[in-house]
Amino acid sequence: MQACTIDGYSIDLEPLSRALSRASPRQIILQLPDGLKHMAPGLVDCIAKELGVDPSWIVVHGDSVFGACDLQAPKLGMLGDAIIAHVGHTPYPPELASSELLRMATRRTVFLPARSIIPLDDIRDALVDAARIASSYKPSVVALTATSQHAHLLHSIQRELRNLGLNAVIPRGQKPYFEDGQVIGCDYRVARSVKADLFVIVAGGVFHPLGLYLSTLRPVVQVDPYRREASDATSLGERVYRRRLYLISKAMDARTLALIIGLKEGQLRPWLAGLVERRAAEKGVKVYKYAVEYLTPSTLGNIDSPLIDAYVVTSCPRLPIDDFPDFHKPVLTPGEALMALEGRLEPYRFPW
Ligand code: SF4
Repeated sequence: MQACTIDGYSIDLEPLSRALSRASPRQIILQLPDGLKHMAPGLVDCIAKELGVDPSWIVVHGDSVFGACDLQAPKLGMLGDAIIAHVGHTPYPPELASSELLRMATRRTVFLPARSIIPLDDIRDALVDAARIASSYKPSVVALTATSQHAHLLHSIQRELRNLGLNAVIPRGQKPYFEDGQVIGCDYRVARSVKADLFVIVAGGVFHPLGLYLSTLRPVVQVDPYRREASDATSLGERVYRRRLYLISKAMDARTLALIIGLKEGQLRPWLAGLVERRAAEKGVKVYKYAVEYLTPSTLGNIDSPLIDAYVVTSCPRLPIDDFPDFHKPVLTPGEALMALEGRLEPYRFPW
């Protein structure tokens, strides 16, 4: 396999190699998530060597890239004929976005998996801890999940956890969008496709464990392969969940909503914005629409007006949870906004 090994990751070059054999673009635009951007010079050198590409053909995209929803292909088109080599994410599921725009961007893009090369021995103690925490919930079925970087480890982890007494299953993925057991920040359908009493997630940071809790409302045990430790993410999930219910109940009194429409290829969701608008109209709630590429605290501060009672973010549903939980007005995901408009606090809908 043609691959580059850099900083604990193996970057699979096969998709790029295949694309280059089909067409000969004058440029390759190398796109990395912010957490992997430091690899860029090493990866440029490696791609040049492994694939026989002139390094001067490769341009690194330096702006922030938040996921496969964020290919920024129209803007990168300014650089002329080029193929986008997007590292570290699988393609974004087209049914979640404006498919034509996303399809156009995806046609110009090859997705290069970045697989962690952490030896199982290094996380064996963490797995023993994870099994101990999980067993305290006495689960019948435990579903194993991971972010894209670690999904390839799940079969070995499954064997370990079974040896430790857990009935561990791996939910089936949906290629090319999801590997077996893989979740992304706004899509946990793979995890939810199995009936499990508890979820184990292999991921760094709290972003994905929190999303997994909110989308399943089941105990979540995290195995952090970078810190080599296991922890129980359930109480964090419960805390955030309670806060979300409070914000939904507050938004039930809203007479006006600002609807945030995304301007990134994978974050433009007319079906969803339309659904929120229709529900709002049925309830006599007035909607102001805003098109925003990246909603930051200063953007929201500028938009804010006494005429707006609450916000609904249809672009990235993690923004209300992770970036605006304490804004002085409710900032809701689409699922939460629908709950508020329907005047109910359960079942909790995350994210859509
Ligand atoms: S969580 Fe947000 S940034 Fe991540 S893939 Fe989903 S929409 Fe994109």
